[in-house]
Order: sequence, then structure tokens, then C-alpha cells
Amino acid sequence: SVVGVPAEIKDNENRVALQPDGAAELVHAGHEVVVQAGAGLGSRFADEEFVAAGATVVASADEVFERADLILKVKEPVAAEYHRFREGQQLFTYLHLAADRPLTEFLLERKIDAIAYETVQTPDRRLPLLTPMSEVAGRMAVQAAAHHLESPRGGSGVLLGGVPGTPAAKVTIIGGGVAGTEAAKIAVGMRAIVRVFDTNPSRLAYLSDVFEGRLDLVVPNKARLASYIADSDVLIGAVLVPGAKAPKLVSRETIATMRPGSVAVDIAIDQGGCFETSRATTHSDPTYVEEGVVHYCVANIPGAVARTSTLALTSATLPYAVAVAKDGVRGAARSSAPLAAGLTTLAGALTNEPVAAAHGLAF
Ligand code: NAD
Repeated sequence: SVVGVPAEIKDNENRVALQPDGAAELVHAGHEVVVQAGAGLGSRFADEEFVAAGATVVASADEVFERADLILKVKEPVAAEYHRFREGQQLFTYLHLAADRPLTEFLLERKIDAIAYETVQTPDRRLPLLTPMSEVAGRMAVQAAAHHLESPRGGSGVLLGGVPGTPAAKVTIIGGGVAGTEAAKIAVGMRAIVRVFDTNPSRLAYLSDVFEGRLDLVVPNKARLASYIADSDVLIGAVLVPGAKAPKLVSRETIATMRPGSVAVDIAIDQGGCFETSRATTHSDPTYVEEGVVHYCVANIPGAVARTSTLALTSATLPYAVAVAKDGVRGAARSSAPLAAGLTTLAGALTNEPVAAAHGLAF
């Protein structure tokens, strides 16, 4: 195949869908790789690195789309990119179609064969192309919290781990899945006192084994949650109910019981948020104060660490991209169960049930 990698054009999107060593891997497998000039710059990959890997760097996105059979992207195509697609072209990227009716219609009309990263699923029900971004967001959540606890930032002036002779900060994490677990690792590593709530007992058992007693593991109920939150310096929301909006687990009244300058990080904001006081923010203006508590509710946390996020994302996508380049979207979906789960549109037909249901379309 000819694999094309355009530059991402969504606001503040600095990731790129392929890193140079991934390009080398595709070239080694006999494919041609066409990269738009500057596509890697936001993640600090120079055009020369792609050239050294055997890729062809072309000046414009138009050229990438003209030459490629398979387009590799990070974010879903935006309207300004639609005209570049030709009928029958293949696409492998995050799509989030359930929330995007125009793009759904476009992919069907233009007969694009598309696999969505977020629905690629292994037989043990993991989402391997979503996981790396949750890992980044979880680890970043604690870094952001530590930063915003600082006095000049309007925080309570508490050092997460304290020093000998002072109390360490208390960090409460709601949801001990992928993001919550990574948040716990960093918070424990910084020597905070860390408690994790999860409704899933087997998740708590897993965390108990992995952390060997360095975490308080709690089954949530309203009263318990409220009492833990009241004495927390940092609250992190990391719940997920697959396919649904995040449940509002923390009320405004409970947030108001936290000490002034404490920090609440709502990672689940991309699903609507799990604190009553949460509203989505951006990296250019990441926080606001409600009830005296600093809220950090950035909807695309991984964007702040584009280099790491690109490395994490592309390491996860590459084996699948190699399979799609080899057999095409149709063939790869036939031979790989995870890719079959990710298949979203094929020759003008919708092949993903939740997306069809979201739009009331035939499946
Ligand atoms: P996950 O499925 O791995 O973990 C979610 C956990 O929440 C599960 O262990 C589940 O048992 C638990 N849970 C569900 N309901 C609960 C409740 N009522 N109380 C306590 N625990 C509950 O999901 P994940 O990959 O860790 O993602 C977590 C959230 O982070 C999602 O909303 C995801 O969309 C979001 N996310 C945000 C960003 C960002 O930039 N803001 C980036 C990546 C992921």
C-alpha cells in the first residue's frame, strides 16, 4: 500500500499518527510511506527523520491524500479535510462518530473504509488504542495537581509528598481503571497518601496486589466518599461507564468541604465529568476556582505532552497499521478480531452498532 500521514489540523493537536521508526517498519514491509512536511514537528520529529526512515516527505496535505491508499491520522477528519478524500480510500484514526453526524454521513457517502482506534478491541475486552491515552492522562493528572497546589498558582501551598516532619498530601482517586491506576502510581511515587475508590471488587483486589498495601482501597458509597473527600488535598475523577456519560459522583456541597486551594482534577470531563462543579477547560486556560477549590478539567490532557503521547499512541497503533497496510481495511478486519471490532464504515455501509444506534441509522 501507499500509506499517507497528513499533519493534524485540529486546534492545538500536536500529535502525529506515525513516528519515524514506524515509517521504517512500514517501508521494511514493502509499503510506500508519504508524510506531509512538518507533520511531526509538534511532537519534535523532523522531516529529515522521516526521510532517513525511507518515507517520502511531500509539501502539502493534498499530495498526501492524492498518493495514499491508506490515510493514518490521530484525530477524526474535520470539514476542511473532507474534500481531500477520494472514493474507496481507507482511513485508520480516532473517529468518535457517535458524536459526529456530518462525518458519519460523509464517510458513508464517499465510501471510505474506516477503522476507528477507539473501538479496536482485543478478545479480553481491552481497548488497546485507547489505553495509552488514559495512561498519559492518569499520570499527567497528578503532575497537574502537584503544580496547581503551589501557592503562586493559587493552590493551598502543599507539597504532595511533604518532607520529613510534615504531613503528606492526601490524594483521593475515584475510579481505579487505567487512568486511575496510573494516577495512583505517580501519587504514591511522590509519597502522597493515596486512596482509590472503585465499584468493581476485582479491580480493588488487583490494585491491592499491585500496590502491596501502599494504597487505601475503598468501595464507594455516598457518605464514605464525602468523608474522604473532605480531608483530601487532591481529588481525581477517573471513572468510566463504557458508552455512557460519566455519572456525577461528587456534589457541589462535597467539593465545598475541601480545604481552600485544594485541587480537583476531573479526567472524566471528556465524558461530561464526574463532579457537579466540573466544566471542560483547555491547555491555554486549564483551571478555574469553584467553592474555593482549583478545578483542572482539560478535555485532552495528553495534548500537553505531545511527544510522549505520540510515542505511546504510535507504539500501540503500529502493529495494527502494519496489518491494515498489508491486507487493506477489509482484509485486515477479516483476519484480525480486534480490527474487526474497530471496523466502522465499509463501502458505504455502517458496520458499528453503537454508532448506528446513536444516529438512528441502519446497521
Ligand atoms: P477504565 O474503564 O479503565 O476505568 C474506569 C474505572 O471506573 C473502572 O475501574 C470502573 O470500575 C470504575 N467505576 C465506574 N463507575 C464507578 C463509580 N461509580 N465509582 C467508582 N468507580 C467507578 O477507564 P479509563 O481508561 O481509566 O478512563 C477513565 C476516564 O478518563 C474516562 O472517562 C476517559 O474517557 C477519560 N480520559 C480522559 C482523558 C482526558 O484527556 N481528559 C484522556 C484519556 C481518558
